[in-house]
Amino acid sequence: MRPKSLGATGSVTVANGPVAAGVECENIMQGVESYDVVVVGGGIVGLATSMALAEHGRRVLVLEKESDLAAHQTGRNSGVIHSGLYYRPGSLKARLCAAGREAMYEFCARHGIPCERCGKIVVATDEADRRRLDELERRGRANGLDGLRRLSPAELRQIEPHAAGVDGLLVPQTGIVDFREVCRAMAAEVRERGGTVRTSTPFLGARLDGSGLIVNTPQERFYVRGLVNCAGLQSDRVARRCGIEPDVAIVPFRGEYYTLREDRRHLVRNLIYPVPDPRFPFLGVHFTRRITGEVEAGPNAVLAFRREGYRRSDVSLVDLAELASFGGFWRMAMRHWRMGLDECLRSLSRHRFADALRRLVPEIRDEDLAPGGSGVRAQAVARDGALVDDFRLLQAPRMVHVLNAPSPAATASIAIGRSIARHAIGNFG
Ligand SMILES: Cc1cc2nc3c(=O)[nH]c(=O)nc-3n(C[C@H](O)[C@H](O)[C@H](O)COP(=O)(O)OP(=O)(O)OC[C@H]3O[C@@H](n4cnc5c(N)ncnc54)[C@H](O)[C@@H]3O)c2cc1C
Repeated sequence: MRPKSLGATGSVTVANGPVAAGVECENIMQGVESYDVVVVGGGIVGLATSMALAEHGRRVLVLEKESDLAAHQTGRNSGVIHSGLYYRPGSLKARLCAAGREAMYEFCARHGIPCERCGKIVVATDEADRRRLDELERRGRANGLDGLRRLSPAELRQIEPHAAGVDGLLVPQTGIVDFREVCRAMAAEVRERGGTVRTSTPFLGARLDGSGLIVNTPQERFYVRGLVNCAGLQSDRVARRCGIEPDVAIVPFRGEYYTLREDRRHLVRNLIYPVPDPRFPFLGVHFTRRITGEVEAGPNAVLAFRREGYRRSDVSLVDLAELASFGGFWRMAMRHWRMGLDECLRSLSRHRFADALRRLVPEIRDEDLAPGGSGVRAQAVARDGALVDDFRLLQAPRMVHVLNAPSPAATASIAIGRSIARHAIGNFG
């Protein structure tokens, strides 16, 4: 990824028009509030990064456009503290998930946030799954997961009496939590350390100015030494508003959930997952017990026609036009059209959704499933159409942009935040 070249004055293009360096800047500088770092985005990655920066003594300003924190991916996810089973050993995901998982359990214990290390099972339903399960087990061991245990069909049923499969894997490190509660505690820590967290304050743009950046919001301008972009579904746009042209674009994939009717919750004790298709970064529909006791089934992965569109009927012409003008989107669509079609059909038919779930728990009936919530994943797609699998950061003068923070970024957030903070401090002090 290449940052746009800087002009002679050191200014970069901003969304609301470049401000001429010099005279106007001096005016702006008198009376503008200054911070060490502005973090764009009050989701879990932005807040964890802010917490780490505040721990290093930086005065942080968090800008969140919504009236609440964690309003998008973080507040609409499955609430699973992932183990790190799936990820390629040595990848950022693998390293940061392992470190972040344990940091998350400690953080919850320190703040009295309910969470449970309940473990999960991955169920192989045929011979092809069994071979993939071998690879998952190998990855899990390479990623340092102790206590992984292969399960015969009978052992599977001892742990989850209603699950069925030819083989299984028990992963004891997996847990559940409400990540919105985690965010509230993270914001409180940022404030305790002298930081400011502003909701209902959209970031509009930033430009380099001398030894810092001028940051625009509708209400105010701020002067900062550096910026960290943790804007999730809007992260590529925020980068552009800083004059950076990323070579990936965010493609939104909605994940829809059903909730298991209360009198059928007994069919699932904890978490029951299928063996994922290694060609896709999504895990396949599964069962998750929430920390509040409900059992959710899902999420699927359908292309969303609006970045922050949580209903099937949500469409944004701006978002669609942007997608259509990105070559990488068409290359991705050509490559994965069959899987996309299957997911769409499953989204439209509860029966097909239930069919996928019956592979794991055969007693599930269509009528056991009531419509649940949904979330939209910010999936970075490269120009060649590849779904970017690992976390991705882009550095530019005085800026760090987080351009891909998919699952397990909520689990790994504390470790990701520490890593981003190190990059940011190395970049602009
Ligand atoms: C359906 C689903 C299920 C998932 N399940 C899990 C799971 O079980 N476990 C797990 O670890 N991970 C899970 N994930 C992934 C995880 O939720 C995300 O990786 C993580 O929440 C990303 O956090 P974030 O802070 O980067 O993004 P977000 O939570 O989306 O936060 C970005 C924030 O930036 C704000 N913003 C955007 N533009 C601007 C602007 N211009 N000005 C100010 N603010 C702005 C947004 O309003 C938003 O609040 C799941 C994701 C989805 C969608």
